Amino acid sequence: MFCRYCGKENSDDANFCNSCGKSLSGKSTPNNTQQPAPARPAAEPTANLAIASLIFGICSIPMAFLALWLSLLCAICAVVLGKISLDQKRPGKEYAEWGIKLGAIGFGICVAFFIIYIVSIFGLFAFMADMIPSIS
Ligand SMILES: [Zn+2]
Repeated sequence: MFCRYCGKENSDDANFCNSCGKSLSGKSTPNNTQQPAPARPAAEPTANLAIASLIFGICSIPMAFLALWLSLLCAICAVVLGKISLDQKRPGKEYAEWGIKLGAIGFGICVAFFIIYIVSIFGLFAFMADMIPSIS
């Protein structure tokens, strides 16, 4: 065989070149050098999803005092995004966990407010029903 570096002929069973001393077992070297490169993941997963979940979770709580449907939307986004982030084992696990927790709290506040609204509306109807006969 011939040396890849200096071109000098060596015996087929030689491990190193007689002339330059470099390794002759280099036939597999191109394959070996190519293998580690694709082993690295093409794109590093980011914590963006977890952070988005946390932001939605934080927003869902004050939003409950402004608009229930917006709060509910934020809470659902927080839980869904947090869940996806955890399932994909992305970085920012603690952000995702807090996003889910805050989303759950926001959802709870929404449900509580919704029940209060319903009860107060029914209470108002009951009050009016009591008033109307007494007027007539
Ligand atoms: Zn050589």
